[in-house]
Amino acid sequence: RTNEMQIEFDARSCNEGFVRVSVAAFCTQLNPTLEEVADIKTAVSEAITNAMIHGYEGEIHKILVKCKIEGKDFYIDVIDHGVGISDIEKAMEPMFTTKPELERSGMGFAFMEAFMDEVEVESTVGQGTVVHLRK
Ligand code: ATP
Ligand code: MG
Repeated sequence: RTNEMQIEFDARSCNEGFVRVSVAAFCTQLNPTLEEVADIKTAVSEAITNAMIHGYEGEIHKILVKCKIEGKDFYIDVIDHGVGISDIEKAMEPMFTTKPELERSGMGFAFMEAFMDEVEVESTVGQGTVVHLRK
């Protein structure tokens, strides 16, 4: 049996916290350990922050977070319709950042990969990015 929910919200940093907590609350149906919940929160937070900081420049647009419980698996998609990523492989390398001036460390994808069982990125320049996460 599957169970799904999604949240669409403005790409404003003030929304990051409640979305992270909502995703964590939804996944409690799976009886996760505290550590698993913390891992999911960290990964979701990194993906949402990326969509806000890198995906959209200037204007405020929407971010969609889709969650699905399927058996014992928890799937999260973080979707933006922003600038996209031209070289995904490079973007996912630890310490790679296109915004060093903002004191970004380039560790967001590395954390997602460390804390989740699967991280997959699809992106089209000028159209946006989808980050698939599984725990
Ligand atoms: P940190 O996450 O440590 O603050 P960072 O965000 O630069 O730094 P990552 O999260 O690993 O590091 O992302 C690496 C790079 O991938 C970013 O610098 C950016 O160029 C690109 N990127 C990531 N997410 C997106 C996105 N949603 N849209 C466009 N570019 C993205
Ligand atoms: Mg990041």
